[in-house]
Amino acid sequence: MNKDQIIHLLKSVNYPGFTRDIISFGMVKNISLDDRNLTINLNITTAKDDVRKTIVADVRNVLEATKEFTDINIQVSDPPAEATSTAEAPAPLVNGDIKHIVAVASGKGGVGKSTVAANLAVAMAKKGYKTGLLDLDIYGPSLPIILGINTTPKITDEKKLIPVDVHGLKAMSFGLISGNKAPTIWRGPLVSKMTQQFFRDVEWGNLDILILDLPPGTGDIHLTLTQHIQLSGAIIVTTPQDMALADVQKGADMFRKVNVPVYGVVENMSGLQIEGTVTNNAQIDLKGVGVINPDENGRFSLRMDLFKRGGGLKESKRLGVPFLGEIPISSEITTASDEGTPVVSAYPNSTSARCYHDLANQLEGFLS
Ligand code: ADP
Repeated sequence: MNKDQIIHLLKSVNYPGFTRDIISFGMVKNISLDDRNLTINLNITTAKDDVRKTIVADVRNVLEATKEFTDINIQVSDPPAEATSTAEAPAPLVNGDIKHIVAVASGKGGVGKSTVAANLAVAMAKKGYKTGLLDLDIYGPSLPIILGINTTPKITDEKKLIPVDVHGLKAMSFGLISGNKAPTIWRGPLVSKMTQQFFRDVEWGNLDILILDLPPGTGDIHLTLTQHIQLSGAIIVTTPQDMALADVQKGADMFRKVNVPVYGVVENMSGLQIEGTVTNNAQIDLKGVGVINPDENGRFSLRMDLFKRGGGLKESKRLGVPFLGEIPISSEITTASDEGTPVVSAYPNSTSARCYHDLANQLEGFLS
């Protein structure tokens, strides 16, 4: 076996809890092979002992399984010094006095994660919590649109960004400073560096809760976050079709491995919610659904299940992740978001708004 083959083999070892491997994280510093005696130098950047031990054990396991080597010597760099004294402490990643930081995550894009993050934040703010919302989706920041922000954030004398006050919260997004998406060539370490820099550069002040809209997946930003920030917990957003897929499990595993409680899974775009008004005391007779009787003001509400209902709950039980509820597909949600006012504010009495309030009630319970 030559060095290239060994590198190829080590690409099967992922950083614990992540979908990225230790080679792409640059943790394998040197490989030397003397006949069948192998020495590997690892530079593991975390001080967490269990993570360090897992990586070494995983590396040893894949190498031993080949039965190619008589001796395998794995040398690991010293752990980074714990920030015990103020002289050694790195600059804090979060500026401000923040009681709780909660991440909203998803296995893939387009499942409605940003919409959930924004409406949850507005619902928490309506409950009276001082709430912040940080959009970390460097490649596709959508919060400026959902929240209808078209101003550039102000900057303090100390060159810190001041979050924008909107819909009762303080919001900040990559999109507000980059104007658009980050170049897709920004990969790996650069994305990580940008995220840390971005975190350090925002002055939040006093907050009860900061909600993070994470980019989809489990990559560099997630690693940076879990290494540097004390998250209170995480909420995973999925669609009914994804529930059976590995994405939710991967997300849950990632947070669990770094000891972040997974509050649960939200099933978004679950069923179709139609609300409307009819005039002249008319009835609606829908084929396959039946007769719908509007209330005395002519208002009606109808839910149609496009997929078999209850799958999300069943699947989350199987995965061992709490189920936080369903949010139907609703044109009010899309319209409100596109117009820059989350549905919780735009249509406060709608069924959709109630779903987000219900989620906020549950979050309140977790935090207390
Ligand atoms: P993600 O952050 O996962 O990429 P977004 O929150 O940006 O997804 O949502 C993607 C699109 O789906 C947006 O146009 C949004 O308005 C729409 N959307 C999200 N949730 C719903 C829903 N429950 N009903 C209707 N449209 C939704």
